[in-house]
Amino acid sequence: MTGKRYQEPAFDDVMSTVEFRVAQRAHITVDADVCRSCTTKACVHACPADLFVPTSDGGILFNYEQCFECGTCYQVCNGEGAISWSYPDGGHGVVFRKG
Ligand code: SF4
Ligand code: SF4
Repeated sequence: MTGKRYQEPAFDDVMSTVEFRVAQRAHITVDADVCRSCTTKACVHACPADLFVPTSDGGILFNYEQCFECGTCYQVCNGEGAISWSYPDGGHGVVFRKG
């Protein structure tokens, strides 16, 4: 049999099929004051788009512009009130196209 073996698509190939229509309003905001007392920083490892970056003062820098809207950060965060989550305004946000 000469069937092709399935190969994981490369991350760059997947990303080339994704478009972000960036809205002016941030659909996710992060309260850096709450994050400073967070010991797990679970969001840093859980976000598939690497949008949470720890800062040297123990806080978090967050950028909503390349968010996949997966909701993982909201699920893993234990800091009460740290993340305010909503979907982007209509016509904005992530668009997945077939590659
Ligand atoms: S967003 Fe949540 S998990 Fe991430 S650092 Fe802040 S409190 Fe911790
Ligand atoms: S919704 Fe998903 S992609 Fe967006 S910031 Fe949260 S974990 Fe990252």
